[in-house]
Amino acid sequence: MKKTKKSVTPLNFTGGWDYAPAPESKDHVQLKDRYDLFINGAFVKPLSGKWFDTINPATEKRIAAVAEAGEKDVNSAVTSARKAYDGVWGKMPAKERGKYIYRIARIMQERARELSVIESMDGGKPIRESRDIDVPLAAAHFFYYAGWADKLAYALPGATPRSVGVTGQIIPWNFPLLMAAWKIAPALAAGNTVVLKPAETTPLTALKLAEIIQEADLPPGVVNIITGAGTTGAALVNHPGVNKVAFTGSTDVGKIIQKALAGTGKRYTLELGGKAANIIFEDAAIDQAVEGIINGIFFNQGHVCCAGSRLFVQESVMKTVVRKLKDRLETLVVGDPLDKNTDIGAINSRMQLEKIKKYLKIGVNEGGEMYQAACSVPSKGFWCKPTLFTNVSQSSRIVQEEIFGPVLAIQSFRTLEEVIEKANNIPYGLSGGVWTDKGSRIFKVTGELRAGVVWANTYNKFDPTSPFGGYKESGVGREGGLHGLMPYLQHV
Ligand code: NAD
Repeated sequence: MKKTKKSVTPLNFTGGWDYAPAPESKDHVQLKDRYDLFINGAFVKPLSGKWFDTINPATEKRIAAVAEAGEKDVNSAVTSARKAYDGVWGKMPAKERGKYIYRIARIMQERARELSVIESMDGGKPIRESRDIDVPLAAAHFFYYAGWADKLAYALPGATPRSVGVTGQIIPWNFPLLMAAWKIAPALAAGNTVVLKPAETTPLTALKLAEIIQEADLPPGVVNIITGAGTTGAALVNHPGVNKVAFTGSTDVGKIIQKALAGTGKRYTLELGGKAANIIFEDAAIDQAVEGIINGIFFNQGHVCCAGSRLFVQESVMKTVVRKLKDRLETLVVGDPLDKNTDIGAINSRMQLEKIKKYLKIGVNEGGEMYQAACSVPSKGFWCKPTLFTNVSQSSRIVQEEIFGPVLAIQSFRTLEEVIEKANNIPYGLSGGVWTDKGSRIFKVTGELRAGVVWANTYNKFDPTSPFGGYKESGVGREGGLHGLMPYLQHV
């Protein structure tokens, strides 16, 4: 079926462009009908005797069955990680460890096409993103941390760095392979072993990573990948054999984990929710800012912890910005994640779609003016049209709470002091953005925003060398860069 994409340039366009479908091929992808747990270097049947289905959110069709790890399976994975830590990995010369990590990175690059397609099939994100962002960045993280493996003494000058032991790692569904890389690569470089649990709706690229780890000949038990939902995650967090927990996910679950770990002596890092403020001053390059705002909130269907979901526009340019945003919204292509024209793919799960819809209702009931692109969406699958809200206030729930979908709440402001006050008046503090021509204003805003990352005249840019993490309810600790290595090292 042909899709229609309307012209980007005129503000009140009347015409449109037709794009022929450009689907990425799935022919090269090899998926099994059923996946077991990856423990001690092999795929093993779960002792729980249970499996669950993972589906394609764009079609609602089953892709494969995936094992559900119970307590005994978690124990088996942790025991295998301990054995590998004590027997092999913890003792291995750092240079040798580094070679294995480089090998993983290279095989990921070789299998990049396959990984991208599976990421889009299992998670719903546009192939353009999984192909150009998720997979290359995941490989880059392995390359980057491989380089650190034999240089840990430089990471901690004057100290003798030591690994921590067995790490339990739990990740969400929005960047499945990338989050696995953020967790596994620094842990291995520092000399730890791993038990990783991917999210229940997007386990497939982590299981493909298990195949890559086999192919790289990593000693058995150094990385174990177990699938399951919250109960499996909780069993991993509470297992006495785990020395460090690394969690990325919602603030609610992060709080449960923090309470569970209190007094246990286990280390932890928590990367949690966000509600970023993107701020446009009147002197900004408006078209560039509008494009950045669109990227900031609609990228990956708004399933981004650092999504710029609150927009503050200086009053004098408010009308222009809102008009341009609405026009741009109409040109976004919503649909098949495997089509290379697609800008906005499928919402990750029915549950997440219900949550987004609940917030759309709340927004309207609170008096917000909702504007949705006039695009059509496929009849099967989970879809949300890109949405803007104006006429909202600081106390609106859609301004205060994380929606995690393609929904932008817009407010105006008059002065810099006012916008800083508003932007910081939130329980979260993960990220933010500022759009202005003035360097001094950039420094002022970046210095005063209580957020871990603030982008200036750009948005959503990532690099393995750069630390990432939040203030307040957005988390504890940093991932990425040298900072991301520290939680995996003991400073002796
Ligand atoms: P979630 O908290 O529901 O689930 C995250 C992971 O935790 C999943 O693997 C899940 O199975 C597991 N889990 C659930 N309950 C658990 C429990 N009681 N104990 C242990 N593990 C448990 O989050 P989600 O909906 O998958 O992900 C979206 C959230 O993740 C958003 O809030 C987003 O902002 C956040 N996130 C943050 C970052 C960051 O770097 N700060 C990055 C990506 C996503």
